[in-house]
Amino acid sequence: MQQTPATPTHCPYCALQCGMNLTPAREGGVAVVERPDFPVNRGALCGKGRTAAAVLSERVRLTSPLVRKDGVLTPAGWDEALDRVAEGMSRARTEHGPDACGVFGGGGLTNEKAYALGKFARIVLGTSQIDYNGRFCMSSAAAAGGKAFGLDRGLPFPLEDIPRTGCVILVGSNIAETMPPALRYLTELKENGGRLIVVDPRRTRTAEQADLHLAPRPGTDLALALGLLHLVVAEGRTDDDYIRERTSGWEETRAAAMAHWPEYVERITGVSVPELREAVRLFCEPEHAMVLTARGPEQQAKGTDTVGAWINLCLATGRAGRPLSGYGCLTGQGNGQGGREHGQKADQLPGYRKLTDPEARRHVAEVWGVDPDSLPGPGRSAYELLDALGRDVRTLLLMGSNPVVSAPRAAHIEERIRSLDFLAVCDVVLSETAALADVVLPVTQWAEETGTTTNLEGRVLLRRRAVTPPEGVRSDLYVLHELATRLGVEKGFPTDPEEVFEELRRASAGGIADYSGITYRRLAEEDGVFWPCPAPAGRNTPPAHPGTPRLFLDRFATDDGRARFAPVSHRPIAEEPDDEYPVLLTTGRVVAQYQSGAQTRRVDELNAAAPGPFVELHPRLAERLGASEGDPVAVVSRRGRAVAPARITTTIRPDTVFMPFHWPGEGRANTLTNPALDPTSRMPEFKACAVRVEAVRG
Ligand code: SF4
Repeated sequence: MQQTPATPTHCPYCALQCGMNLTPAREGGVAVVERPDFPVNRGALCGKGRTAAAVLSERVRLTSPLVRKDGVLTPAGWDEALDRVAEGMSRARTEHGPDACGVFGGGGLTNEKAYALGKFARIVLGTSQIDYNGRFCMSSAAAAGGKAFGLDRGLPFPLEDIPRTGCVILVGSNIAETMPPALRYLTELKENGGRLIVVDPRRTRTAEQADLHLAPRPGTDLALALGLLHLVVAEGRTDDDYIRERTSGWEETRAAAMAHWPEYVERITGVSVPELREAVRLFCEPEHAMVLTARGPEQQAKGTDTVGAWINLCLATGRAGRPLSGYGCLTGQGNGQGGREHGQKADQLPGYRKLTDPEARRHVAEVWGVDPDSLPGPGRSAYELLDALGRDVRTLLLMGSNPVVSAPRAAHIEERIRSLDFLAVCDVVLSETAALADVVLPVTQWAEETGTTTNLEGRVLLRRRAVTPPEGVRSDLYVLHELATRLGVEKGFPTDPEEVFEELRRASAGGIADYSGITYRRLAEEDGVFWPCPAPAGRNTPPAHPGTPRLFLDRFATDDGRARFAPVSHRPIAEEPDDEYPVLLTTGRVVAQYQSGAQTRRVDELNAAAPGPFVELHPRLAERLGASEGDPVAVVSRRGRAVAPARITTTIRPDTVFMPFHWPGEGRANTLTNPALDPTSRMPEFKACAVRVEAVRG
């Protein structure tokens, strides 16, 4: 690995996209050092970011293509590996039609890769069967935000606004563990006299910072939001002028909320009426307030309605589209935002355009130089696509994802993956999914390549190449170029990321997520530009568009400029506890691991801090089981069984257990989770399912 001098870049992991510098390390390789001038994290990094350079080591990363021979993955040359992949796809297409080729992307891919992958699927393979793991991340918030505001961008304001508002309701986010440098925004909020309300079934490290912690039963935060709205109306705290001037659909929503009186909501959620009243007081008294949601309310089979209910609360109190007020979603994956804007989602084209919109198809087809009628229609969502493997979908190209660990009902999904005729995986490491592949292509990662990502604020960022990748490694863009050529498409898949970005700019022009005014040069000079950022019209070098840090201040992005209320009602989770499965399971992350753990489980320091899975349970439940701290306990759902050591704590409800989902094998939490899907976002219900917990003897 050769190195170049200190390079400013961004962390490879979560959606905060912390700035960091990479400098040559004395012992060889590169070292991560602080970059205090980047405004989002001002130099702070969590343990994952600090140790990110460890995954660049040839000790842990793949350095040669692997081809399965006599059942064993064996090092091979690039031509042989690429020929095998092209042959596998070609055969599936010839024998079963284009939709027999599946493509599965990732929320960690750069904008350029996500764009090129979507284009590859649609014009080289001609398949509709493409989706990505970001579907499992924020799709419910995206659907609810799109419905309410006409545009979905994680946060419609920069993080720097948070300390200056009056109250934040943080719903289902353990920011202290998932993105620790962002905790300072909440700390500063409190230092400035603002109030923090945390909604979480567990008393997390984030909940400990709150002025008020509401701990609803998992899967009931839709009812909780409705109960709060009921009290807002009953106490005369609605902003009637705002509702009249800037929204539509209030009367129906008001009627739905009035059917959720506080005592009823208390029975559903377990949150007491005085707590509900206190939350309304804290939220409504200041001039400004915000609601921020994350995976808790979103990863439910009613996630879209749940987020809609929290947006309703903002709209009814006039707290959206005004300075220092609004609703935002804390996206999770590194490029969770940009990854969903440029075409790897089953129903979307670049620029956040709809695949079903004839004008969108015409615009993108023109940029791609193809007939609009040749573009396939929308395909299956992520879980449905994985569930179809080995049946309708016979071959899969997977890029930057590890569904054997991260998909719901994971044992079933692993079985579907094993039943494929052919699997090709592009990855940095030999993940659990890559280990099942027929061909593994070792690709470049963050510090080894240049590309753009879009963080949770909608800030487009330039990640710069800082080191030379190992000799046997190629970029994902190279893979797509070579496969396209082998499959008969000679042009349109450049390997230079800036060239891809230039095309992405044109493809996104005029779309919701308009990047046409953003260039690599601007990104390098300005340290990020917020979309939408259209290219200036006219001649004589008109001034560049400044980007849009704050959305909706004049109007919402709907046809009439008004935000739409969502008339939603409470409904139970897809799988309520019963006599056989009497406990609720909820899942989430720990600070020292990231997502499926494919990268972070290869870092010694992180493994020392978080060596394996555990089952968090209340002392009362532990006593009933006769389990002590560290004893193995089995968690059993209708989909399977997982075993992990007990971690006994009073910070969890007695009717609920928690498991982190970063590990494969016996302690794999996703063996248990329920793939019941939200009807709109197609988000699986990761956050709540019925289980029983058993002591493991002997
Ligand atoms: Fe990286 Fe997220 Fe940690 Fe920042 S908070 S260092 S982006 S993992």
